[in-house]
Amino acid sequence: MVYDGTGRSPMRADIGIVGDRVAAIGLLEAAGAVDVVDAVGLSVAPGFIDSHTHSDMACFLGAEHDDVIQAAVRQGVTTEVCGNCGFSPFPCPPGRGAELERHLATLFATPTIGWTDLAGYSAALHQRGLTANLAPLVGHGSLRAAVLGFADRPADQDELRAMTRLLDEALEQGALGLSSGLVYMPGAAAGTEELVALARSVGQHHRVYTSHIRGETDMVAESVAEAIRLGRQAAVPVHISHHKVCGRQNWGRTEETLELVNSSRHAGMDISLDMYPYTAASTLLYAMLPNWAQAGGIDSMVGRLRDRQARERIRREFEDGPPEWQNIPRAAGWDRIVISNCPGRTETEGRSVVELATEAGIGPAEYVFDLLVEQRGQVMMIVHMMDEADVRRVLAYEGTLIGSDGIPLPGKPHPRWAGTFARVLGQYSRELGLLDLSTAIRKMTSMTAERFGLADRGALAPGAYADLVAFDHAAIIDTATFESPLTPPIGIRHVFVNGRQVVKNGEMTGARPGRVMRAA
Ligand SMILES: [Zn+2]
Repeated sequence: MVYDGTGRSPMRADIGIVGDRVAAIGLLEAAGAVDVVDAVGLSVAPGFIDSHTHSDMACFLGAEHDDVIQAAVRQGVTTEVCGNCGFSPFPCPPGRGAELERHLATLFATPTIGWTDLAGYSAALHQRGLTANLAPLVGHGSLRAAVLGFADRPADQDELRAMTRLLDEALEQGALGLSSGLVYMPGAAAGTEELVALARSVGQHHRVYTSHIRGETDMVAESVAEAIRLGRQAAVPVHISHHKVCGRQNWGRTEETLELVNSSRHAGMDISLDMYPYTAASTLLYAMLPNWAQAGGIDSMVGRLRDRQARERIRREFEDGPPEWQNIPRAAGWDRIVISNCPGRTETEGRSVVELATEAGIGPAEYVFDLLVEQRGQVMMIVHMMDEADVRRVLAYEGTLIGSDGIPLPGKPHPRWAGTFARVLGQYSRELGLLDLSTAIRKMTSMTAERFGLADRGALAPGAYADLVAFDHAAIIDTATFESPLTPPIGIRHVFVNGRQVVKNGEMTGARPGRVMRAA
């Protein structure tokens, strides 16, 4: 049964592939073929496009981490939109080196950056070899770091001009759009004016502005409103990343935020969202620190965390911080914060901060400060702080794409990297009936390709790239859990990327036909 990705009802058909493209769809018994894949009893769809990943550098992880690298394609993902939340591994103009490299190494757990721009990064990816396609956004935080380092202040006019130049260059080299991460330094130091100026340039290139908004806890509605306002002022399409509301006191508020999004859509604005099907988030452990504590880069942050008075001030802000700040420990509770990746102390992975702190005989904040100092910031966390009803409301919303927000790192990463797509199809579509299958597939294929300007992807038709997934609809389900986060889903049978088979009968073929995508 062929689902073409547009939301149309499926039809029984053969699919003919020549080279990297779909040549024909229909009854093709009479056509000769070099290879025939028997997909009787299976559903076939365009390869899934993950609208939100942090897989920018995954292919540079060592072969011992194949289970991490391959988790996306093993659930049928053939294109990953990366460069999200303000972080992209480019631009890195010469001379801006050390601090930026340290920052990127912390984020992506890979040592060196050997390029200065998107073109150089793409060449390095192609040389390394990609299983799936990678579609990079340029990160606002990375632009900012390249021009004014990790300064905790708005950019001045000269700096803004320099950032715009680097942005335009990345867009001309094919970046899909600009991403921002307004809870992370250095991006969080930007005011609306700076973002509007940059987003205007994105609009002129007919690309998209995506945002990890300024707050997903108490200030979630104001933060959604800021993204909408920014889109209007800059005349740019807006995409809100991993839309959620966090902290028990905010549960249910997706009614309010979706109403904001919906009324701006009805007023003619081009705005969309993405979400993953889990009630836990995941990010850098140090993202819980107030902006002032993160300012200046990793070295400055670590220096502050060594200081008694600074620690005391952060602890006080955890207790009773300013309302406009996203206070994760207060929103979630220390017992719901779990260390997911810590290469320097793997024994902490999968354990909660409370558990670890109790064992160490110190308070949870103290434990986090010590760990960040010892590991120089290279620690990731999972935070259980959403409500299932909100997750379902956002997934079901017509403007929502499916995006894993996957962070491909070893340890105990969030299972969303390995499970999102199979979970939406198995649990949320087949079992819960939240979305019919055609609609669920559309949210992972054609809608995503349209949103990000990926030509000839996401919809099956003659002439489209042969990115395909064949799965067993009756069986498909995720198996990745917080305890065992990288296990492949059940029911994904065959996956093709650019006409070449990368998964055959559920096993990796070893082929690396992936390409770096450019916006059309
Ligand atoms: Zn994010």
